[in-house]
Amino acid sequence: MSGSAGGEEGVSSGTAQAADAAAEPPERALMRLLSGAWVAQAIFVAAKLGIADLLRDGPWSAADLAVAAGAHAPSLHRVLRALAGVGIFAADAQGRFALTPMAEPLRSDAPGSLRAYAVMNGERWVWRSWGEIEHSVRTGRPAFEHVFGAPLFEYYAARPEAGRVSVEALRSLSAADDAAILAAYDFPAGGTVVDVGGGQGSLLAAVLAARPGLRGVLLDRPPVVEMARGRLEAAGVAGRCDLVAGDFFVAVPAGGDVYLLKKVLHDWGDEDARAILARCRAAMPGTGRLLVAEPVVPEGNLPSEAKWLDLLMLVYVGGRERTEAEHRDLLAAAGFAPGRALPTASGVGLIEALPC
Ligand code: SAH
Repeated sequence: MSGSAGGEEGVSSGTAQAADAAAEPPERALMRLLSGAWVAQAIFVAAKLGIADLLRDGPWSAADLAVAAGAHAPSLHRVLRALAGVGIFAADAQGRFALTPMAEPLRSDAPGSLRAYAVMNGERWVWRSWGEIEHSVRTGRPAFEHVFGAPLFEYYAARPEAGRVSVEALRSLSAADDAAILAAYDFPAGGTVVDVGGGQGSLLAAVLAARPGLRGVLLDRPPVVEMARGRLEAAGVAGRCDLVAGDFFVAVPAGGDVYLLKKVLHDWGDEDARAILARCRAAMPGTGRLLVAEPVVPEGNLPSEAKWLDLLMLVYVGGRERTEAEHRDLLAAAGFAPGRALPTASGVGLIEALPC
């Protein structure tokens, strides 16, 4: 998401980036960044065609890949040649392409696979939203609505295939978050966890699998709940979990001990986010706890994926990523006492809040 075309070393730390920047003339550095969108679209098409899956057992020529993937061989060759230049796939001495460490996560069955996310990232409804970023920056309104004439979640409801692509993308991102959240937060041994906007269900499945005495409730929009069901069944926890198809602006299931909101508030502006929090507050007993899990924007000039996701939220849904201070203000305005902030090993931070 950094928009970087990537050097030979791929993603570098802030310090290394500073050193690179010192070595690279500014015009060249700028040119490299300007091709970021092209790199992302090339990764998208390789992911969509399933190239990394085809290379699982060894190198293939672009011609063979094109036959298997239903592509135009010379054009596919050009895409793979360009990607090999940034460390994704590598050509061997016979001109066949092979996996590299950065190509591995594009395999569907790789641990921590990012294939579904790479696909969603380049699909035309995302790409066309970025294409109208000027509209968002001039008006503050989501480019998505300008292009498609409806808010994102209505678009998904009308186009189940786009909704499915999004749910799968979120699932592919969730694997790293789920383990990191479980490691960072001590969920209770008993009681009920309500995952509000629980999406594809992987976090709740992981929490319930780790706490056999806990029950779960997942609230999401009707088509998403159906997709979560399979996940909870596969994890063997469906018997301890209620699925609620509903609208978190209307009602949130009452009586839970822990309410989870993961990557939900960032889809919304402050007014809507406060309304969702107020529904959670109203549903919660005085002894309940709320756990917000979101990418947290660092203060200052630090490089941060959250700052780029923030722009995706701007063009795509009209939401925003927030600093820790902004999260605390939002929670306080919705009747919560914000408490501990816990970093995790993944891209999300946790903020716990108690009703007040
Ligand atoms: N918590 C999940 C999903 C985050 S995406 C995860 O981290 O993977 C945001 C979720 O909010 C989506 O699943 C979307 O379907 C859901 N959502 C959006 N509007 C909603 C509404 N009005 N009521 C309930 N859920 C909604």
